[in-house]
Amino acid sequence: MTAQTTTTTAPAVEIEGISKSFDGHLAVHPLDLEIRENEFFSILGPSGCGKTTLMRMITGFETPTSGRVRLGGADVTDVPTRNRDLNMLFQSYALFPHLTVFDNVVFELRVRRVPRAEADRRAHEALELVKLSHLGDRKPDQLSGGQRQRVALARAVVSGPKVVLLDEPLGALDQQLRKEMQYELKRMQREVGITFIYVTHDQEEALTMSDRIAVMSEGIVQQVAGPEDIYNRPETRFVAGFIGSCNLLDVTVRAGSAGEEVEAVLDGVGVLPGVLAEDVPLERPATLLLRPERIEVRRDGEGVPGVVETLTFLGEEWHVHLAIDARTMVKVSLPSLVKERDLPGLATGERLLMRWRPEDARIVVR
Ligand code: ATP
Repeated sequence: MTAQTTTTTAPAVEIEGISKSFDGHLAVHPLDLEIRENEFFSILGPSGCGKTTLMRMITGFETPTSGRVRLGGADVTDVPTRNRDLNMLFQSYALFPHLTVFDNVVFELRVRRVPRAEADRRAHEALELVKLSHLGDRKPDQLSGGQRQRVALARAVVSGPKVVLLDEPLGALDQQLRKEMQYELKRMQREVGITFIYVTHDQEEALTMSDRIAVMSEGIVQQVAGPEDIYNRPETRFVAGFIGSCNLLDVTVRAGSAGEEVEAVLDGVGVLPGVLAEDVPLERPATLLLRPERIEVRRDGEGVPGVVETLTFLGEEWHVHLAIDARTMVKVSLPSLVKERDLPGLATGERLLMRWRPEDARIVVR
């Protein structure tokens, strides 16, 4: 038998009842959040949802209207930013133009009067981490956008802060570079073992990089979970609609408890199978959340009938819109392989039958 050690790490950040209002308007509703040590944690939401304000309360740039912030167990709510054990990385890299790459990275350590030999060693390590050791003598204007971003990151981690907060840091990069940097950022975070809090409006970015994601809308944290749970088990209509493509069908459900299989009534059409994602105390209007790739379509057998309205070829799959009735359209993603094999000659106007596993159709009342 091998000996087992259990390590319990303190949360890196604890947020308790924090809120922010500007001129009587709540930009961030009271919320609790725990961000773990060494976690890649994203705050995801559309423009204006309050993510930057939340981040600024963690850094200390913004004073919360209510609530407390703890870093590594210590209450820092009234501690100024410079005395909090964290660092920030923004889209505008804010490198010193007259300093070399190396001097940019070592700068903070010099300010903190870290002994020269140790400071140099740590700066070299940070440059190695971002794979820029060979460019230490360059000036920022002799670097590409991606390289400048790496220097900024080396600078953010060189002093070994507990937490690094990144506010849409890849926004200025082109699509290709963005993708590369997403993997790189994740790798670097793993390597340095620092908690990253990543603010973004880009759902794909959040899904690919994060250990966990907090999805925000209108100042409210809608769900906090890992990428797979956020995608496959959304808890609100907003989360389902914001992350990926999802059918949001207006239905009515009878009372039941979370996890229970029920028949949701689609007005004027009939019943659709699904599973309650939460307790429902009374018969209520609700939303049935159904991903297009979870629906199987056939020419015969059982299922919910729909008429093909549009067929769009996307290479590996087809996007099919099926009209259940005049008001209700359902998006289906049909793998090209399946269409060729099972539905040869499929055309608009044809009637198909849709089926899905009840557990793939989550019903929420929020
Ligand atoms: P974006 O992605 O566009 O940066 P965001 O999700 O980061 O948006 P916040 O910048 O946190 O959103 O803003 C949340 C809300 O608070 C917005 O309605 C914004 O107008 C408001 N707000 C933010 N800062 C202030 C301020 N200093 N004074 C007044 N209102 C503010």
